[in-house]
Amino acid sequence: MLRGGREVHTGAFIARIEDALRKASIYQDDLAQALAASLMPLDRLEGEAGAAVALSMEMEEEPPLVREEALLRGLLAWFKSEFFTWTDRPVCGYCDGKDTTRLARTAAPDSREAAHLASVVEVYTCSACGAETRFPRYNDPLKLLETRRGRCGEWANAFALCCAAAGLRARQALDWTDHVWAEVFLPLRAGEAPGRWVHADPCEAAMDTPLLYEAGWGKRLSYVIAVDENGVVDVSCRYARDWEAMKARRVLVDADWLKEYLAHTTAQLRSHLSADQLAELAARDAADAARDPNPVPTRQRLPGRQSGSETWVASRGEGGGNKAGAADEGPAAAGPPLVRYRLAGDEGVAARLPGRLTGGAVRASGQNGEAEGAVRALDGDPATKWLDFGGGALGAVPWLEYRVRGGAGKAGVEVARYVLTAGNDAPARDPKAVALEGQRPGSSEWVTLDEREGLCFPERGSALSFDLPTESCFPCVAFRLRILELLDRAAAGAVQLACWDLYVAQ
Ligand SMILES: [Zn+2]
Repeated sequence: MLRGGREVHTGAFIARIEDALRKASIYQDDLAQALAASLMPLDRLEGEAGAAVALSMEMEEEPPLVREEALLRGLLAWFKSEFFTWTDRPVCGYCDGKDTTRLARTAAPDSREAAHLASVVEVYTCSACGAETRFPRYNDPLKLLETRRGRCGEWANAFALCCAAAGLRARQALDWTDHVWAEVFLPLRAGEAPGRWVHADPCEAAMDTPLLYEAGWGKRLSYVIAVDENGVVDVSCRYARDWEAMKARRVLVDADWLKEYLAHTTAQLRSHLSADQLAELAARDAADAARDPNPVPTRQRLPGRQSGSETWVASRGEGGGNKAGAADEGPAAAGPPLVRYRLAGDEGVAARLPGRLTGGAVRASGQNGEAEGAVRALDGDPATKWLDFGGGALGAVPWLEYRVRGGAGKAGVEVARYVLTAGNDAPARDPKAVALEGQRPGSSEWVTLDEREGLCFPERGSALSFDLPTESCFPCVAFRLRILELLDRAAAGAVQLACWDLYVAQ
């Protein structure tokens, strides 16, 4: 029996899921997928995914990278950096004023806006010209392919359609504390049935980081419901830092009712499927259910919200790890997702930096997306940097690894010198003590080649050069820079480095 105000909440609960189901059916529409595909650089993304899989095999990564995961990573990066735009406030439609619009009121959509499933229209007035600009919150993913802007609702909606157009199995993850992201089903190994639904947030280009919200942003989640054309599933515990605490917050609808409603809706959605299709879905459900329902806690730190202006994020209390000085609190949080090897892409650097080791593959303990990924420390460009939020945690020893490829990758390379270049800001995040390690050919053991303490970069972007002791000059197939201490860990919140350049013995 439902009591008190719960009937109202239950109605709203059902309405939100039914809205997501309508979107899910659009994602499966052939024409919708074709339209999305026509706007996506699918050949490029597929090519990059294929190259990433080949590199993973060459590096003998375990588990090996599957094509779907590589494609999803590429899609997340493309969607955020090239396709969609975040909108706190729209640009003035009359004078193009960028920071001049203020929300005046909300209005009902007109017939043209309603035709594209706008739920509400935010009306902004411009302080420069006085004109009004309408910002309809469209729910039609096809319309969003044209507008390419919005907040998390629009982002997740258009992204789910793009995933479907790329041939990935995606579903919406609805969060009842005002967020929405996607989940994508990834096989564990190429061509095999077992796999798992993986968290994918297009706004943050974040993947497989389910504790991002509770541990990073400081949210207190209650319900997370995954929705696709084949079912409606309660996945809340997958995002819980403390499942018992989350359960205590789940008072919006009756727990038994929710269970029954989800089971009933899923059964209805599957009622028209063939026995084969049902068996495939059941196998996928079972594989996903077999893994640990709760995320694995560690002491790594996750970032606060990156999407939206600082003011907007702060107004929602989602800044989390962005807060200065929050580094040492060290609450339980998920570790960063496994960072895969990437090609350093540094072949051109040797012309500018004679003797610089190039052509390798790189990975790190963690990274802040592709924009501040491990590759950025090896690109020879002091204007870009590698940043790892997890590396700022108390007791963390963040690292960068550079693995030699090709013929030299078998015989090894002798390195005589290495140069570290500080990032553009936040001196607290500079390395203060480092160890350089190497791997001899045929060995997986890391040998210390050099250790340095008391590092001090005089200015932002300045470089420190270190010669290896003579006894460390022997061929290695891989090098690892471990950052043992930061300049000011309490204030850092992350580790960062603009460049790590290795120079071969002449
Ligand atoms: Zn204006």
